[in-house]
Amino acid sequence: MASLIEPCPFCDSGHLHISHHLLSHSVTCQTCKSTGPHRRKLEDALQEWNHTSKLLRSARTASNVQVHGHLHELEDAVRNLASALRYGPFKHKGATKLELEH
Ligand SMILES: [Zn+2]
Repeated sequence: MASLIEPCPFCDSGHLHISHHLLSHSVTCQTCKSTGPHRRKLEDALQEWNHTSKLLRSARTASNVQVHGHLHELEDAVRNLASALRYGPFKHKGATKLELEH
């Protein structure tokens, strides 16, 4: 049985409480009171809580690091495209070479 609980996806708190209802389980953050999905099986409730936590935390780090990297890549691509359109495709060197060889 899974016993590891990820920290709260919303406030990063590790102060979590597992609620047992008649037919369902859910994880509740004691700090910000957000509650995970209610599931019949404790494992499912934990799994979905963990899944949300991982997703949101990776999205947060992604927005800080990866998105900036992707933005730079995108800027470079647009710049390359703009210069390619302005100066035409890079065939001229090859064409000159061919002409020189003839
Ligand atoms: Zn929280």
